[in-house]
Amino acid sequence: MSTLAPVTPLSAPDALASSDLGLPTEVPLDERDGRYLRAAIALADRGRSRGNRPFGAVLVSPEDEVLGEAWCNTSETGDCTGHAETGLVREVSPRYSREQLAQATLYSSGEPCVMCAGAIFWSNVRRVVYGIDAQRLRAFRGERLDQRDAELSCRDVFAASPYPIECIGPALVEEASQSHRGAWKL
Ligand SMILES: [Zn+2]
Repeated sequence: MSTLAPVTPLSAPDALASSDLGLPTEVPLDERDGRYLRAAIALADRGRSRGNRPFGAVLVSPEDEVLGEAWCNTSETGDCTGHAETGLVREVSPRYSREQLAQATLYSSGEPCVMCAGAIFWSNVRRVVYGIDAQRLRAFRGERLDQRDAELSCRDVFAASPYPIECIGPALVEEASQSHRGAWKL
């Protein structure tokens, strides 16, 4: 028997209104961060079109060079660790120095889970911008146990780091939510 507490049953549209539900407040982004977060959201849609859960991530240098991009490929590969951010770290960490990665920003269409937050920590990436937050995502996931995430915020993982990891989000919530509409029914 599961010891997990029941999930508060929010409907997806309700989850988008943060006012009286105690949901995280959306953070405004500048043009540059908005542009790359939208690129991550586009990757989420691309991954979804291939039958995966809709998550995407992109890593960008301070000189606006895209160092890597990935979408969640768990359905395509059968690899439960195939989340977008972890896949992205796996792709870029052999190719760039830890010093280069420390200067980069990782954009993720959704708030990183505990595994991805750990991978981001090990990569030495120190700035993260994400779209839809984990709480709103739970409204899309529904109450199915096999779709439940670990309810530990990426910020708790980053806070355990010996150096600061800046974490910005939720942002572009409405745009980031679009990728998830109808994607968790099966
Ligand atoms: Zn993850």
